[in-house]
Amino acid sequence: MPAPLAPIEVREFAVPDLPEGGGLLRTAYSEVCGTDVHLWHGRLAGVPYPIIPGHVTAGILDRSRGPLNTIDGSRLKEGDRVVFFDVHRTCGRCMACTVNRTPTRCASRRVYGITDSADDGLFGGWSQAVYLEPGVTLAKLPDSVTFEDYIGGGCGLLTAVHGIERAGIQLGDTVVVQGTGAVGLSLVALARIAGAGTVVAIGAPAGRLALATRMGADETFDLAATTADERLERLSALTGGQLADVVIEASGSPKAVEEGPHLARNGGRYVIVGHYTNAGDSRLNAHEQINRKHLEIRGCWGSEAGHFLRALRMLERHARRVPWREIGAKTYALDELNVAIREAEALTVPKALVKPN
Ligand SMILES: [Zn+2]
Ligand SMILES: [Zn+2]
Repeated sequence: MPAPLAPIEVREFAVPDLPEGGGLLRTAYSEVCGTDVHLWHGRLAGVPYPIIPGHVTAGILDRSRGPLNTIDGSRLKEGDRVVFFDVHRTCGRCMACTVNRTPTRCASRRVYGITDSADDGLFGGWSQAVYLEPGVTLAKLPDSVTFEDYIGGGCGLLTAVHGIERAGIQLGDTVVVQGTGAVGLSLVALARIAGAGTVVAIGAPAGRLALATRMGADETFDLAATTADERLERLSALTGGQLADVVIEASGSPKAVEEGPHLARNGGRYVIVGHYTNAGDSRLNAHEQINRKHLEIRGCWGSEAGHFLRALRMLERHARRVPWREIGAKTYALDELNVAIREAEALTVPKALVKPN
């Protein structure tokens, strides 16, 4: 991706010389997510174009120099199916990392496919090979998890693991998820696994709502066929007037943020996960929607290595039953990426997959 809104180009790179502790991954799959569309629109700050997008990627360890270990302590060998955490160079020493305990806000933090420049090398998954820098968090893909399961979950699953942590769901809670994109669909599945009593997904179109049901939603509200008032009424009827214990926003829409607090019960919680870029202002009435309601509002930024590892464990335990692989609906080769980004922009598929080899 040479620059915002410029056509994606296929370029050749030299095979990198590996330093001690480095590796080279032969890419099996990467993905086109909402963030890649924001990158292409030039809507994220501090992006060092040209970049090789594709921040979540899976593949086979092609080469390594010196021993490489996974985050949970096992030794990797060439030929292993390997996944890695896209966030690297978090410093562990700054205010954000230590005092505030918000490592996702560390200023040194870099992310494959987003804040690493193509001028620095193969730091993105829309490529036949990815350079694994020494110190990058690595894991073996569990034997029972296919590449298609992993990449179907992809970055949306990692974000959802963090969102569920922020949501603090209690057994039996009524949980509403706003949005049925890759993040929303994983939130539905994980809210169910986390012990929610009733899970409601709000989204569109019909095919996406059907997938939300297969992911674990008990009820789906069609955004295109209902008004906000009708959705509030339906939720009220469903919960005996109690409304939702937890509402999680995963749509990226300012309108959703105006609606979400109305759907939460008194003393409930509202978690905002979907606003990874500035989509504009939302209008809230502080008295009615927050203060009188005694509402708790939480943000959720990025993810940490722990979310990456937990996502893998969830896939290992649940991917046979939860159809994460269905989120990655369509696959594109390297020379089809201009089509892929257009389709991701138009939201015609939940997620486009990139298969460079
Ligand atoms: Zn730091
Ligand atoms: Zn992403």
